[in-house]
Amino acid sequence: MSTDPCDGCDTPVKIRGGIGDFWSFFGGSDDAEGMLLTFDSDGSEHLLCYDCIEKLPDEPTAADVSALE
Ligand SMILES: [Zn+2]
Repeated sequence: MSTDPCDGCDTPVKIRGGIGDFWSFFGGSDDAEGMLLTFDSDGSEHLLCYDCIEKLPDEPTAADVSALE
């Protein structure tokens, strides 16, 4: 477990382990954790808190993340 600022709003975000099931716990937790999104299109990674993730469309792109900043 580590903490890094959210790419969207700079809120400190705790990162949970378990890369394989990021989306399986999406929506199933109400604590202040976030997720690291990786976009296959350009290989970029973005750490986001749940508040920002909820603002993204179902299939977010790097452009959608940039729009949060
Ligand atoms: Zn955020």
